[in-house]
Amino acid sequence: MKRFNADSFSRRRFIGSIGAPLAVSPLLTSKLRGMSIPKIRDVQVISTEPAGVRLVVVKILTDQDGLYGYGCATFTQRADLVVDAVNLYLKPFLVGRPADAIEDLWQAMYNSSYWRNGPVLNNAISGVDQALWDIKGRQAGMPVYELLGGKCRRGAMIYSHAAGREISETIDQAQKIIAQGIKVVRLQVGVPGMASYGAAQAGKAPVPTSEPHDEVFEPLPYVRRTLQLFEAGRKELGSEIELLHDVHERVPPRLAVQFAKDMEQFRLFYLEDALSPENIDYFKQIRANCTTPIAMGELFNNPHEWNMLIRDGLIDFIRVHVSQAGGLTPARKVASLAEAFQVRTAWHGPGDVSPVGHCANVTLDVVCSNFGVQEWTFANDRVQEVFEGYPIVKDGYVYPNDKPGWGVEVNEKAAAKYPFGSETGARKSLNGGWGVVRRADGSVINQ
Ligand code: MG
Repeated sequence: MKRFNADSFSRRRFIGSIGAPLAVSPLLTSKLRGMSIPKIRDVQVISTEPAGVRLVVVKILTDQDGLYGYGCATFTQRADLVVDAVNLYLKPFLVGRPADAIEDLWQAMYNSSYWRNGPVLNNAISGVDQALWDIKGRQAGMPVYELLGGKCRRGAMIYSHAAGREISETIDQAQKIIAQGIKVVRLQVGVPGMASYGAAQAGKAPVPTSEPHDEVFEPLPYVRRTLQLFEAGRKELGSEIELLHDVHERVPPRLAVQFAKDMEQFRLFYLEDALSPENIDYFKQIRANCTTPIAMGELFNNPHEWNMLIRDGLIDFIRVHVSQAGGLTPARKVASLAEAFQVRTAWHGPGDVSPVGHCANVTLDVVCSNFGVQEWTFANDRVQEVFEGYPIVKDGYVYPNDKPGWGVEVNEKAAAKYPFGSETGARKSLNGGWGVVRRADGSVINQ
């Protein structure tokens, strides 16, 4: 198929063909001349871990001098596979194609493998997709939020994590977060002797496992401890502050229903990942039994996972990890679907999203009327050395950069100082610190 070629198409001739007033407008012709269609010249991958977490960023260069863009492609537990997916499959497909046809390229990348909807390919596609949006913004001289219709709010309300070994430590951390002006806090606490998602391991010797490197998690001690945490949290932190909690899909469905019901008294902002993606039918039972607001979606890859939950009103917040779903292009569609059903957005925003990805999250936050809250990760000095232009947080709100595109520049020399493999401690392990978690009987659980 012969592709549309900017060089063979005279914009002046086109303008001339639609009427004299336009053809003689020097202002209009000069603006259009400045927007000739760039072609993709090269696709590169930047692999770096300035905070000890593997980040993958795609850089697309065009045939126009100084016009390039960045996109987040981070799947930290299988990061090298995403690098190969970009280099071996997407790059040969993309080089020479026009950089402005974002929707068309997205559909082509997504469908041309036939087997689709996996985290490796979706993240690779996201890296390209977000880089193309960055290019379009830089070319227009506008932040991406302007290309999407402009801001409908000045900043996005964030939440931060309080996660102690003991309940008192979590409460102390929450008070420090609240003192910074942050209005929503996630509370997690360690369970003595057991693996604890989002919190350091609490006192007491670890429960022995059949596999020396694995940790044990038992649902009932976790549920009892978390209910105690929230009882103390409401008492110490008051009723005004918004609280939330992440189950991380670690309890069986029946217990998840009971837990959501028991947590109702604490008036959560939301309860997150109460069920695994494999068990989402049980959201009907949570809904039928309590009014606890529900957030779900960071592990979702594709529409057939979120469509039913949104359409049937089974969740209150859609929590997609934007790069896991394939980038800004599909995420904007998810947000629009959610808007029609009064579901709000809460894009996943942990440390294994690159700063480019955080900028994409904040862009969506300020353009979507059904925004709910933004999970926020504060960047350390090394991250800010590598990624210049990290969004600013003030009084509990994050504000997008007003520079063209995402407003982020990657210092590639600094990125090279933190190559993959330079992690320390558990992060150096095979999955970047994600091990296997088992019940006390040795069976592996979702995590
Ligand atoms: Mg979660």
